Amino acid sequence: MSKSSSTKYIFVTGGVTSSLGKGIVSASLGKLLEARGYSVTIQKLDPYINVDPGTMNPYEHGECFVTDDGAETDLDLGHYERFLSSTTSQANNVTTGRIYQSVIDKERRGDYLGKTVQVIPHITNEIKEHIQILGETDQYDIVITEIGGTVGDIESLPFIEAVRQLRWEMDSNAINIHLTLVPYLSAAGELKTKPTQNSVKKLRELGLHPDILVCRTEHHLGSEIKRKIAQFCNVERDAVIESLDAESIYHVPLLMQSEMLDKVALRKLGLKDETNVSLHIWNDFLSRLKNPTSEVKIAVVGKYVELQDAYKSIAEAFIHSGAANLCKVKVSWIQSEEIDSSNAKEKLKQFDGILVAPGFGDRGIEGKIEAVKYARTEKVPFFGICLGMQCAVIEYARNVLNLADAHTTEINPNTSNPVIDLMDHQKKVTDKGGTMRLGAYSCQVEEDSKAFECYHKVNIKERHRHRYEFNNDYKEKLESAGMKTTGLNPESNLVEIIEVAEHPWFVGVQFHPEYKSTVASPQPLFVGFIDSAINYSKQH
Ligand code: GLN
Repeated sequence: MSKSSSTKYIFVTGGVTSSLGKGIVSASLGKLLEARGYSVTIQKLDPYINVDPGTMNPYEHGECFVTDDGAETDLDLGHYERFLSSTTSQANNVTTGRIYQSVIDKERRGDYLGKTVQVIPHITNEIKEHIQILGETDQYDIVITEIGGTVGDIESLPFIEAVRQLRWEMDSNAINIHLTLVPYLSAAGELKTKPTQNSVKKLRELGLHPDILVCRTEHHLGSEIKRKIAQFCNVERDAVIESLDAESIYHVPLLMQSEMLDKVALRKLGLKDETNVSLHIWNDFLSRLKNPTSEVKIAVVGKYVELQDAYKSIAEAFIHSGAANLCKVKVSWIQSEEIDSSNAKEKLKQFDGILVAPGFGDRGIEGKIEAVKYARTEKVPFFGICLGMQCAVIEYARNVLNLADAHTTEINPNTSNPVIDLMDHQKKVTDKGGTMRLGAYSCQVEEDSKAFECYHKVNIKERHRHRYEFNNDYKEKLESAGMKTTGLNPESNLVEIIEVAEHPWFVGVQFHPEYKSTVASPQPLFVGFIDSAINYSKQH
C-alpha cells in the first residue's frame, strides 16, 4: 500500500500568546515518533504575505534558514533538521504570500475560468494541497504541520479553516495538538487555567477541537489542574501534557516522552506504540553536553547581536560542536559597529576563537575587517562565514597585498580593487526575492588543508545564500601572498574556502556550514574550530 493513502497528519496550533515554542514541541514530538521507527517530516505554515522570509530583516524575522533545494525559510525548519534525520525543502514552508501567488497565477492562466476567485474555496483549497504535498511523496508515515501565529489572528483564519476541512475529510488520520500557556500568578500563588480554556473556546468557535493540549508552564501542573483543564476543555485526562520550561531545547523531547506525548498521539492516530523509543545518539549528546572537560570563549562578531535569533543556526552549531569536543562553548555576541583599530585588541583579547558572521550591507563592516585583522595577526583561531569570509579576503588584500582600497562591490561599487564582486549573471538580476546563489552546491576540498582535516573527504556539499563572490582575478596574487584557496566549486571554479596557511586555524567559507549542523551530525568545520580554540586556550 502506498504511504500517501495511509499518511497520518498532526496539526499543531498555538493559543494565548506567541513564542510558546510550537516549533520545538513539533520537533520534539517528531523526534520521539522517529525514534519509534516512523518516518516523519515537519512543515511550517506562515501567515504573512511575503512569499518567503528572504527579503525580511533579521530584526523582523530572525534567521532565514536555507534548505538544500535553495528555499529561504523560517528558522523553525532549522530546528526540524537539527532534531530529525530527514532534511526539509521548499514544501516544508508555506506562506500566505506563496499561496496567493499561486492562486493568482492560476487565475491569470484561466484555471478558474468563469468563476469568482475567493478565499473560500480557492485559497483554502490551495492551502490544503500544499499541506498534502509531503504526504503524497510516499516518503513519510507522519506529517506534522505547524500553523504559525496564534489562534484568533485574522491572518491565520484561512489556514485554520483549511485544517478544519482536512480534519473532517481525513477523519481518524489526523489529529490536532493545541499549545497553550498556563501562567503562574505569584500574588495569588496559583496556576491559572482560564487563558487555556478561552483559547480552546476560540479554537472550537472556528470548528476545530483539540485532541491533545500541550500546556507551557513554569510550575508543575499537578493532577488537579490537569483534571480541571481536561474537563473544561473536553479532552482526555492523559491528553493534557505538561511542558515545563526546560534546561535546553534539546531536553524537550525527554520531557515530552515522560509526559507520554508520543504514546497519546499514536493512540489517537490509531498507530502502534509497541516499539521502544531508541534515543541512544540523543542521550549520548545530552550527556556530553552536561559533562564538559574544557571550556572556551568564542566571540561572534556581527551586527544583529542584540537578537540571538538572527544567528540561530550558528548558536546551535556551537552547542553541537561543543558537545562533540566535550567542551563548554561560551559565546559572546560582539557588535561589529563598536570595533575599530584602536580597541579591537582590548575587545577581543579574552577570546579563544573569533567567528565573523554572515550579513548584508555596510553597517559594521569595518569592525568586522578589524576583527579579522586581530585574529590573523595575533594567531587566534578564526572562522569567517559568507560575509565573514569576504571580510577575510578584503583584510588580506588591504594589509598583506597593500591594496588599500580593496573592497567588495556590494559596499564600494567604485573600488579599484574589487576582490569580492558579482558574477556576470548576477549583474543582470533586478528582483531581490529568491535571486541569490541559494541552496546546496558541491565543493572540492584540497587535501593539504585545515578544511580537509575537518571533513576527511574531498567532495562535500554545503548550502549557500549570497550574491557576491571571491574575484578570481585576485586568486594568484592572494595565493602567492599566503592566502590559499582550499575549496573550489568543480563546475564554476568559484572559490568556496580560503585559509591562511601560516596560522593555527584561519578558515573562511563562502557557504553557510551552520545550516547543516545537527545533534546526530555536528558540522565538521565547527568541530575543528572548537578543537583549535581548545588548543589556543590551553596555550594562553
Ligand atoms: N552580502 C554578502 C553577499 O551577498 C554576504 C551574504 C551572507 O553573508 N549571507 O554576497
